[in-house]
Amino acid sequence: MLEMRDSLIHAMVADGRLMAVAASTRETVEEAKRRHDTWPTATAALGRTLTGAVLLAAVLKSPGQRVMLQVAGDGPLGLVVAEATIAAAGVLARGYVQNPHTDPLRTRRGKLDVAAAVGRGTLWVIKDLGLREPYRGSVPLVSGEIAEDLAYYLVRSEQTPSLVALGVLVEPDGGVRAAGGIMVQVLPGADEATINELEQRARNMPPVSSQLEHGRGPEEILHGLLGDFGVQVLASRSVGFSCSCSRERLADALRALGTETLAELEREDGQAEVVCRFCGEKYLFSREDLMRLMAYRGEKPE
Ligand SMILES: [Zn+2]
Repeated sequence: MLEMRDSLIHAMVADGRLMAVAASTRETVEEAKRRHDTWPTATAALGRTLTGAVLLAAVLKSPGQRVMLQVAGDGPLGLVVAEATIAAAGVLARGYVQNPHTDPLRTRRGKLDVAAAVGRGTLWVIKDLGLREPYRGSVPLVSGEIAEDLAYYLVRSEQTPSLVALGVLVEPDGGVRAAGGIMVQVLPGADEATINELEQRARNMPPVSSQLEHGRGPEEILHGLLGDFGVQVLASRSVGFSCSCSRERLADALRALGTETLAELEREDGQAEVVCRFCGEKYLFSREDLMRLMAYRGEKPE
């Protein structure tokens, strides 16, 4: 049922002085667009955020570990949220944007203006590594372009100087032509010369989205940038859009509203439709379902 047609590659570079991750995410972003009916600027912003979450999750190891990015800007898009979870099958990504029907703002050069649509605000990074408390970090948004914001977070909060490039190419008809990203991190042993060389190359690197559009995969993009440094591939994984919601989980959420609210729903609407925010899936609860939920609540042991 779940299709994982995107991929990512995680590699150690330059004898451990650099770490790199590259991903193609076209199918994932296209699925997010289809589910949330996002317009182009929202597709680009959500696509970049989904790709960023996938890149950060690439270094996690155990199934269930996950990374969530929340881009909380004051622009017309509202909140943009993406989560990537490690699973046996690969990396599962899901996410949403508060206002999917935001008019496509464009820069003077005709590109989708994601920064203006995001606005000023905060980037939150939440890592759930299966410990008692998830780790939470935040930085102010430096540009709203997402990639720069993520790079700023990595250097400021995790003290890891990083190159982050995220690209989503949206077709005139709104479809996703290409999407993906690359992240290169400077590890403690890196010398000045390696860092300078990396910066130089990053400046000259063609945009990730156009590389993907021309048929280059994550591995080729990574090799193109860093090949002669010596690349040791640690893992390659499948990536796909997937949500962990279920009828049972949403029934729990509904039950948590309390008997009074459930009774009101039952009386006034005769049913309840619950939509999962992350994937847009609709779950319909009939009058009988609502009655059962109310009754069940009564039976639940303290
Ligand atoms: Zn869902």
